[in-house]
Amino acid sequence: KLSQRLQAIANFVPQNARLADIGSDHAFLPTYLVQQKKINYAVAGEVVQGPFEIAKRHVEEADLHNEIYVRKANGLAAINEQDGIDTIVIAGMGGILITEILSKDKPLLNGVSRLILQPNNHEDTLRRWLLAHDFVISHESILLEAGKFYEIIVAVPKKQHPELLTELSVTEYLFGPILLTKKTAIFRQKWEKELRTLNKILAKLPQNQHQKREDLEEKKQRIEEVLSEN
Ligand code: SAM
Repeated sequence: KLSQRLQAIANFVPQNARLADIGSDHAFLPTYLVQQKKINYAVAGEVVQGPFEIAKRHVEEADLHNEIYVRKANGLAAINEQDGIDTIVIAGMGGILITEILSKDKPLLNGVSRLILQPNNHEDTLRRWLLAHDFVISHESILLEAGKFYEIIVAVPKKQHPELLTELSVTEYLFGPILLTKKTAIFRQKWEKELRTLNKILAKLPQNQHQKREDLEEKKQRIEEVLSEN
């Protein structure tokens, strides 16, 4: 059984996708998806030796080495054109690292029809990267597990989806264009918590730190505005 977070990611993987899970760690996600018969081809990429070996062993033990190719590689270097990958998952890493991985081998994204991303932070930076690089956001979800909030962002090529927004407001980048239209209870909890954190930081920040205080106040105001609307 997967964690709630990985299950939510798995739900976004299309039936029969050719999947690359970059930074796969134990290869839990592709293993689950193949066992569920949702997919039958996956590449699990890992850059660190330890997790790479564990992933390889798990795949062997589950007898899935004909379906899941575990490769030791940095980011998208794990995949090549022959894999015919159409869906890429990058989950459980910082948002900036995710943009770096996507930037590094951008041509490899050509045949890809769906990115399923779960940044641990800097969601706004990741959204900006996506829209600046010909992707648009098709789905978003937010969940709370073991005291942590997780956002999942699904992006698709702009060319194939003329119906989706190609420009976002500062507020949409920060909160997520789709999360904003839903404003679930978990979404509200996340931003109420963020508001409390900002208040604590402001209380400790010296009055003479004008710029920093102004930035934090501005962010606070944005959050208060979003939370006050329905
Ligand atoms: N994706 C899994 C999940 O969401 O549960 C594992 C997340 S784990 C916290 C992050 C993994 O990404 C680590 O195993 C790490 O070694 C791997 N990683 C970090 N940078 C990477 C890169 N540039 N290329 C491939 N893997 C990377």
